[in-house]
Amino acid sequence: MAKLILKPGKERSLLRRHPWVFSGAVERVQGTPESGATVEVRSHEGQFLGWAAYSAQSRILARVWDFAERQHIGADFFRQRLSDAVAMRTRLCAAGPRHAVRLVQAESDGLPGIVVDRYARTLVLQLSSAGAYYWRDTLIEQLSSLLPEHAIFERSDADVLTLEGLAPAIGLRHGTMSAVEFEENGLHFTADPQHGHKTGFYLDQRDNRLLARSLAAGREALDCFCYSGGFTVSLLAGGAASVLALDSSAESLRAAQAHVERNGLPPAQFLEADVFQALRKLRDQGRQFDLVVLDPPKFAPTAALAERAARGYKDINLYAFKLLRPGGILLTFSCSGGISPDLFQKIVAGAALDAGVDARILRHLGAAPDHPVALAFPEGEYLKGLLIAT
Ligand code: SAH
Repeated sequence: MAKLILKPGKERSLLRRHPWVFSGAVERVQGTPESGATVEVRSHEGQFLGWAAYSAQSRILARVWDFAERQHIGADFFRQRLSDAVAMRTRLCAAGPRHAVRLVQAESDGLPGIVVDRYARTLVLQLSSAGAYYWRDTLIEQLSSLLPEHAIFERSDADVLTLEGLAPAIGLRHGTMSAVEFEENGLHFTADPQHGHKTGFYLDQRDNRLLARSLAAGREALDCFCYSGGFTVSLLAGGAASVLALDSSAESLRAAQAHVERNGLPPAQFLEADVFQALRKLRDQGRQFDLVVLDPPKFAPTAALAERAARGYKDINLYAFKLLRPGGILLTFSCSGGISPDLFQKIVAGAALDAGVDARILRHLGAAPDHPVALAFPEGEYLKGLLIAT
């Protein structure tokens, strides 16, 4: 088996069980591993550090599957990891057969590059590393035996694939697909695993939508970046007096409208617009709201783009504060890996200051518990949010 030998001192993060081996930490590669194959990682002094998947083209040259020398990386290993991840959701996430749940959260479940979302009886598999691609057939086989009676649809088209030198792979891999309907907090939604964002729906916001719903009664609400209407539907279900939902995608707005109707809720107002411009326009029109949701797409996929992203977050939060009535509520989010929770809070504080609004944090928000963050892998904490009262 091929080996990666690290430079002196570069074993420290692996000893803390952080699973990434950056190319700059590697002194030499012994042998000629094919991309995705399992390699042995050793320190400069020869200490065994882990079994890892080799990503020939990536700056993250390897991702550790396991830190124990006795572990064999094969079908049984993946079966165990998958079944542990599923068991945790069964124990802790109250996800019944009609619900949607993230079953596997990549590094945080010891499965780098592998995400599995379950929408009722459909599993959506999202692979994003050479190692994950290498084990595709095994993963599909193990998932179908672990969760029989589920269709498996692969949706491997994340941006990071290009960093790994991998081509997108999308298609039905097992069973037969039907319309993917599911329930979230008693509300009905449909996901489109083939064309929708991510695996079809933003499952990570489940608990925050429930929170928004609990605060909505009688309020005039604004849902920015509404996508297929997760927050809009929740706000209406919570008795919002009105909801204005903004998105730049006409297709997303159609899906959102269909979700409102499917749930038998009073109509929302949908506006196809760029949020940056729409917020200014609403401000010029003197519009005011009691509750604003800001759930933008990833402005900063990497730390390198954080500065430009910070300006984007500042801008939308500034205008959200200007549009809020005194006594209003802001639910503001960032899913950019490159923006830390700390930095995000500073950006929002700066926005409130510039808007001349006195505001306080009621709660720090994050992803629902089916999107855990391994303590050894803080990068897993991508979604952060603040519940703010003015
Ligand atoms: N809140 C949603 C998820 C939002 S995803 C939920 O709970 O499901 C981000 C959305 O922002 C996408 O639907 C995308 O179409 C939209 N979007 C991206 N850039 C935008 C912009 N500048 N103006 C308006 N919408 C935008």
